[in-house]
Amino acid sequence: MKELLQTLLDDVKNGHRMSEDEALLLFNVRNRQIWEIAAAADEMRENRVGNAVTYVRNQNINVTNLCVNSCGFCGFSKKPGDEGIYFHDKNEIQKKANLAKKRKVSEICTVSGLHPDFNAHSYCEVYQWIREAAPDVHIHASNPMEVAYAAKKSHMSTREVLIAMNKAGLGSMCGTAAEILVDDVRKKICAQKISTDEWVRIIKEAHAIGIPTTATIMYGHCESEEDRVNHLAILREIQDETHGFTEFVPLSFIHMNTPLFRQKLARAGATGREDLLMVAVARLFLDNFKNIQVSWVKEGIKMAQLGLIAGANDLGGTMFEESISKGAGAVNTDYLDPAEMQRVAEDAGRTLKRRTTLYELV
Ligand code: SF4
Repeated sequence: MKELLQTLLDDVKNGHRMSEDEALLLFNVRNRQIWEIAAAADEMRENRVGNAVTYVRNQNINVTNLCVNSCGFCGFSKKPGDEGIYFHDKNEIQKKANLAKKRKVSEICTVSGLHPDFNAHSYCEVYQWIREAAPDVHIHASNPMEVAYAAKKSHMSTREVLIAMNKAGLGSMCGTAAEILVDDVRKKICAQKISTDEWVRIIKEAHAIGIPTTATIMYGHCESEEDRVNHLAILREIQDETHGFTEFVPLSFIHMNTPLFRQKLARAGATGREDLLMVAVARLFLDNFKNIQVSWVKEGIKMAQLGLIAGANDLGGTMFEESISKGAGAVNTDYLDPAEMQRVAEDAGRTLKRRTTLYELV
């Protein structure tokens, strides 16, 4: 196994496109060979994007936590009658956008619950309000689930919704709602969400009309290693076709306050080994992605730093007003000072650089 692994890693570093079986082999490594995989991924990262660690100054605006869906991994959404429901109106959203401007953010990120009264117009209105208040700030918002929901509510095609959102100010779309792109798993964790095929179709539509998106995976719940590989293979195939993904963001499952965990349908999140391997295997397998992000919100800053020396080159955002992971039970998710990012990057022998949403250096 030792020799086989080393040969595979050498081949990949020399340009061999890793097969799905090979990725599966790497995900199953449980001994000190994970350091060899991490080292190979780190080398790939250095060759592909250099030594900078990037971050974006961003703020969330979650418009509402009321949601018609009941995803098993979600600790954020509320149903009518629950305590703590909120819905921000124009005034409140523009106040938040003004605050974002004062905080000198370059990106406002909005993803919300699927409000029972929302339609395509509601999403577009929100982007217009943000654009009015903070015209220079990039709006990174929605995801394929929200686009599908808006389309259904407004009797429009998803392509029409994307075009309308784009006109209203949407600069790039979140590649969330992907969770695991395997329908059997989706049925267990988010049965009301769009299918794998729909997610892929909407992402491709966005890319085709010039809306870049991120790509994500949520792992560490009830998926298998095969499911993770299938997911990565779908992302790689899309990227080959469209080149529309800006980055890959592995999202480690936060389990504490989720129905899935309470009902014993999911385990208590990924382990450190799995977090590390997810970043490293992604860097090695996704040979057509430039940027691999580690989420300090999901993994904590110490594990995120290890991700930086296992293939990742980006620390995500400052995340003013994070509330989705907080809802699921994560702590210290609201804002990370770039000074702390710099300490962590420099400690790993790297330089921190600020970027825009689309990875232009500021
Ligand atoms: S993950 Fe999104 S769609 Fe699912 S319940 Fe939570 S807010 Fe609603």
